[in-house]
Amino acid sequence: MKRKTKRGLIVAIDGPGGVGKSTVSRMVAEKLHLKYINTGSMYRALALAAMDAGVDLENEEALKVFCSTVEIEFDADSGRISVNGRDYSDTARTQKAGELASIISTKKTVRDFLVGYQRGLGEGGSVVMEGRDIGTVVFPDADIKFFLDASHEARAKRRLLELASTGKAGHVEVSNELRERDRRDRERVVSPLTVAADAIRVDTTEMGVEEVVRKVLKEIDARLKSGNIRS
Ligand code: C5P
Repeated sequence: MKRKTKRGLIVAIDGPGGVGKSTVSRMVAEKLHLKYINTGSMYRALALAAMDAGVDLENEEALKVFCSTVEIEFDADSGRISVNGRDYSDTARTQKAGELASIISTKKTVRDFLVGYQRGLGEGGSVVMEGRDIGTVVFPDADIKFFLDASHEARAKRRLLELASTGKAGHVEVSNELRERDRRDRERVVSPLTVAADAIRVDTTEMGVEEVVRKVLKEIDARLKSGNIRS
């Protein structure tokens, strides 16, 4: 889709948990000298901050009041995330934070708040933005959209490796938690995880990270050469 206004490139990368979106998105952003924006870290940090403030994560009204008092800050250079001046970058990576994020991400008030923030970050373009609803809701007019997928087993293994540095979760625990999170992400009423009609779907089950990055870069390059998007 061509836009009238001049803006930098927007690459949307969506997909379920544990698929390797963060690693791939960061590498693609680095290669293309674009900003890398991880929206999952925002849901994670916001959930932790709400917990710290004693907010009931199931209470939409309480979350609405909370969001109205919150200032969230994502630094694309360092990837660090803070809420009301408190840095949640490290705690946001834990399995617990992921679980809490998947609960508050079902709430419309939370999604409206974060989607607004994310649009602001990506407005000028030149970003790789990663999440669940980037190509469907946040930037439906993104220049190019990817949906990365993989089998449940492959994703559970990747998530386990990723968590090795932050927690002591075992394989069964990680696998079950991922299944529950998938269910919530796909079945929620507001912005469920779905594949945008114009997204390039990549099944990464049998692919290594480098291979996925190569595939994504190749597709972007082809799109740029075809003149369908501006660099
Ligand atoms: O990607 P990550 O695992 O860090 O995301 C944590 C949770 O935040 C997801 O399970 C999902 O529920 C929520 N999320 C979302 N929309 C996004 C990014 C994350 O609902 N754009």
